[in-house]
Amino acid sequence: MVMEIHLNDVVRLRKKHPCGNYEWRVVRVGADIGIQCLECDRRVLLPRRIFEKRVKAFVSQGRVSPPAGHEA
Ligand SMILES: [Zn+2]
Repeated sequence: MVMEIHLNDVVRLRKKHPCGNYEWRVVRVGADIGIQCLECDRRVLLPRRIFEKRVKAFVSQGRVSPPAGHEA
């Protein structure tokens, strides 16, 4: 299954950034995925394949509504 990635999605990664934060915002979507640390604002570009491995969970999604049945 292909992971859907949208601009402004917020993701939680498996490994924490040196600044201590786990959550990143998606700032670029393409062959490479650009993410920005919510704590220190550092930006990183990762190949999609690597990005998908590092993501533990989506915290919020930029363009997609929460799944049906999810609490509003
Ligand atoms: Zn950081």
